[in-house]
Amino acid sequence: MTTAEPRAPQSLDERWQPYRKPQPAESNPELVIASAVPEDERVWVPIEENVWFRPLLLSASSGYWMSVLKVRRAGVLSRHRHPQPVHGYVIKGSWRYLEHDWVAREGGYVYEAPGETHTLVVDPDVEEMITLFQVNGTMIYVDPDGNVTGYDDVFTRIDKCRAYYASTGLGAGYVDQLIR
Ligand code: FE
Repeated sequence: MTTAEPRAPQSLDERWQPYRKPQPAESNPELVIASAVPEDERVWVPIEENVWFRPLLLSASSGYWMSVLKVRRAGVLSRHRHPQPVHGYVIKGSWRYLEHDWVAREGGYVYEAPGETHTLVVDPDVEEMITLFQVNGTMIYVDPDGNVTGYDDVFTRIDKCRAYYASTGLGAGYVDQLIR
């Protein structure tokens, strides 16, 4: 933080006293990332043509991941089914699902229910979209009739990050700081 922290008045006002006890021993260390949308382009992991993701938190202990997804125009994120909920916040641009008639726009929030199967697209008139997603459990890739063609979970994401960061000079270990 570069701005000055507010100062407590010179008193023993208990509201300004930090918690004095240790954090639970089993609690994971916190994670603070200064720029969720990275300045270093090497942090974007390509996953499909015109589609990248930037991992923020890879929760191996709880089976979900937080990431920022970037899709450039005319990009498609492969059709997939979610067995668990997804939460999204649109940071930039807009996108939609082929299966729905609404458009997610900058500043908007999206909830995807368990059981939902969809195909995320960025239309040719949108230069770029950037969206923060919490993806729980698994993305099950399917054909248009729902036949399974593949999957991603937090562990395949970790593997893909390791392989990509090893190739970009950041190093395979770059991803370790994001795993909890
Ligand atoms: Fe999805």
